[in-house]
Parts: sequence; structure tokens; C-alpha cells
Amino acid sequence: METPGSFKSTKVTDVYVLGDAAQAPDMPKSASSAVSQAAVVAADILADVAGKPRTGMSLDSHCWSVVAPDAGVKLIATYKPGERNGKRMLIAGAISASTPEDSADVRKKSYADNLAWYDALTAAAFPRADEKPEAAPEPATEAPPKRRRRRRRRR
Ligand SMILES: Cc1cc2nc3c(=O)[nH]c(=O)nc-3n(C[C@H](O)[C@H](O)[C@H](O)COP(=O)(O)OP(=O)(O)OC[C@H]3O[C@@H](n4cnc5c(N)ncnc54)[C@H](O)[C@@H]3O)c2cc1C
Repeated sequence: METPGSFKSTKVTDVYVLGDAAQAPDMPKSASSAVSQAAVVAADILADVAGKPRTGMSLDSHCWSVVAPDAGVKLIATYKPGERNGKRMLIAGAISASTPEDSADVRKKSYADNLAWYDALTAAAFPRADEKPEAAPEPATEAPPKRRRRRRRRR
């Protein structure tokens, strides 16, 4: 990977490497990291195809756990391209984490946030058949001309 500029392979032209296959520290090798990286790669490819500048990297990872009914804990981190010890990396920035001192209300909110996050993620990954994708082209307003049937002549 061309860390941290893009997820393009350093070995194969026009191939992107993401998820568990990518070397992208500080990001953990997790499903949520892979999803976040996939969004960046998709945006990069769309920008390249359209000949537009890339929008930059906005990456995060989420770790949610349900510890009891109505009680959840979380560890959420964001990542930005940077450098550590002379090595280019995706540096962890803002971190939002549960603590042992969290009140029951905070745990309850984490639980609700967990479910909401999961619902949003699965809705984005698996849109319902009746939902129109965001970037879908508008359907043609003009109906295609009807084809006239040819009658067979009797001999
Ligand atoms: C036990 C366990 C628990 C986990 N729990 C969590 C969790 O709670 N939360 C979380 O975020 N992450 C969790 N993870 C990590 C998460 O599953 C991975 O980080 C995530 O699946 C990575 O996605 P990926 O698409 O990069 O790779 P994968 O999901 O591994 O997908 C790669 C796919 O490529 C296929 N493949 C491999 N070689 C070839 C080939 N030569 N040709 C064609 N296809 C090929 C594989 O069969 C596989 O389907 C867990 C992992 C494990 C093992």
C-alpha cells in the first residue's frame, strides 16, 4: 500500500489493497476498518475516473460490545495520514472509549449507539431492493418507441 496517501498497491498498477490484506497501522485489522477503507478506495476510484482531485482520507474503526441487556461499551478511533519514527502511517487521532466509571445511562447510550451504527452500516452495505442508490442515473423520461409487429402473409 502507498501508505498513507492511498490504498493503491505498491507492487501492482491499478490494484488497491485494503482490509486485512493492507499494511495500514495504526488501524486495526477489523471489519469496521475494512469498511472505512473501502469507502476511501471507492471515492478515490470515482475521483480518478472523473479526473477530479481525491477528497482525502477520513478513516475510522469501531469496536462495540454488548456486555448486558441495555449496556454497551465502545472503542472508536479516527485515523489520519502522518509519520512516526520516519515511517508513513495512519496515525490514530481522536479516540472515544468507554471507561469502568461510566454510568448506567452512558452504558445504555453506548448500547443504543451500537445498534444504530450497526443498522446504518448494514443498510449502506445491503440497500433494500426498493431503495434507489444515491448516485443512480435518472431513468429516461421518454419511452422507447414500440416495435411494430410484422404480419405474416399467407401464401
Ligand atoms: C474469530 C474472529 C472474530 C472477529 N471479530 C471481529 C469483530 O467483532 N469485529 C470486527 O470488526 N472484526 C472482527 N474480526 C476481523 C474481521 O473479520 C476482519 O478484519 C475482516 O473480515 C477483514 O475483511 P477483509 O474483506 O479484508 O477480509 P476477509 O473478510 O478475510 O475477506 C477476504 C475474502 O477473500 C477470499 N479469498 C482469499 N484468497 C482468495 C483467492 N486467492 N481468490 C479468491 N478469493 C480469495 C476469502 O475466502 C475471503 O472471503 C474477527 C476475525 C476473526 C477471525
